[in-house]
Amino acid sequence: MLPGHPTAEQVHRRVVEQEPTVSLGTVYKALDSFVAAGLTRRVASAEGASRRYDADCSEHHHLFCTDTQEIIDYCDPQLDLLIREFFAARGLKNFQPHSFSLHVTGVKGKN
Ligand SMILES: [Zn+2]
Repeated sequence: MLPGHPTAEQVHRRVVEQEPTVSLGTVYKALDSFVAAGLTRRVASAEGASRRYDADCSEHHHLFCTDTQEIIDYCDPQLDLLIREFFAARGLKNFQPHSFSLHVTGVKGKN
C-alpha cells in the first residue's frame, strides 16, 4: 500500500510498474479484501471523487482540503477523550460506539 490516502487508481499505477497485467478491477477487489480483513480502511473523500484508502488503521481523524483534495491525518488524544466522554455521558440508543473518526472539511492554510 502506498503511504497517505491513495485512490485505487494510484495503487494500480504503482502495481503495474511491477506487474503490468494486473487490472484496475483486481486492485479494487484486493483493496476491498484488505478493508474486509481490517488491514486497510476506506476514507471519505469529496462526493463523486474516487474512493481513497488508508493503510493506517490506527484511530485517527482526517482533515480534508477541498482545494487540493489532500487528506491529512490528525491525531489529538484530547479530542479523542472529549468525544469518548461526550458519548459516554450522552449515550446512544441501541448503539455502542467502538471507535471514532472525524472527517473535517476545510481549506489548508499557510501557517
Ligand atoms: Zn489517515
